[in-house]
Amino acid sequence: MKASKKAMGKAGGKKPHARRTKPGAVLIGADLGGTNFKCGVLGMSGEVLWRDSIPLLEPNDPRGIWSEIRSLIAEAFRRAEGRRVAAIGVGAAAPLDWKEGRIFSPPNMRGLKDARLAGMLEREFGTAAFIENDANAAAYGEFRLGAGRGTQSMVALTLGTGVGGGIIIDGRLHRGSNGVAAELGHTIVDPTGPPCGCGSRGCLETYASATATARRWREGVSSGRIRPPASLAKQPGEVTAKDLFEFAELGDGGSALIFAETGAWLGEAAGSFANVLDPDIFVFCGGMAAASKHFMPALLERFRGRAVSPAREKAEIATGRLGSDSGIIGAALLAAERLRPRR
Ligand SMILES: [Zn+2]
Repeated sequence: MKASKKAMGKAGGKKPHARRTKPGAVLIGADLGGTNFKCGVLGMSGEVLWRDSIPLLEPNDPRGIWSEIRSLIAEAFRRAEGRRVAAIGVGAAAPLDWKEGRIFSPPNMRGLKDARLAGMLEREFGTAAFIENDANAAAYGEFRLGAGRGTQSMVALTLGTGVGGGIIIDGRLHRGSNGVAAELGHTIVDPTGPPCGCGSRGCLETYASATATARRWREGVSSGRIRPPASLAKQPGEVTAKDLFEFAELGDGGSALIFAETGAWLGEAAGSFANVLDPDIFVFCGGMAAASKHFMPALLERFRGRAVSPAREKAEIATGRLGSDSGIIGAALLAAERLRPRR
């Protein structure tokens, strides 16, 4: 097609004055969150050669968000420095059809409603493109190159605004029949618990996400159960899980108690996941994993009370090693996998 050829010339180094193609293909991996877009150039084994991220300024405008996505991917093509880009992989924080490459109706990125993102990228850049759920991509990155390296089965839980999940069984990402497998944050841990954004109640993420951890602290303060630290310099309503981590590091008992409760909720759920899946390893990642020192003891204790032996003793419990690169690494490696054979 016309547009595709033109785009190939633009991005693939086919202009008369473009550099000659160097040997060795690379991958482009991207992580499309609601507020940020991160993109990298990676070697075929997932090593990050270049990366950058931009804030998404127009997530709800179809032209605006597409222009932001396209410009950073075009920059990645330039950073590939003449090497062939074998595939583009994008992990997106949106409900999507991974096979069709279509985004459904993301509440935080309304500009991508019904966008056939994989096809748009293929036409623009003349390169095979694939999309995945962002938590699945991050889990797969940790499995291949991070904390799960060398294992065969892994359960990942990403602790941030919500609780994301990813499941790898016998070396393969488990996406499920409809692509919604591993929505582990929506495991119900308390049927009478708070309402969840998914329409259910008492989901794991209503207790154990970073957002929920801060909310439980605020509730504790307003009920008098938790005493805020004397040094608190902001309104309790503005306190985030990151603040609580800083308080806990300084020895604040109230924050430490809240993190211990977060750990207990996570251990409760992980114990059940062990009884269903019996993975080699559980990996806790995402922003709040930085506070693992404060939630891990309670997590382990509760996990051992729930998981059946010998998973109880043998399952490894770890934190992520790749930080925020896990998403671009996993998206790139999954794209490379889907190139051959296509499925
Ligand atoms: Zn839910």
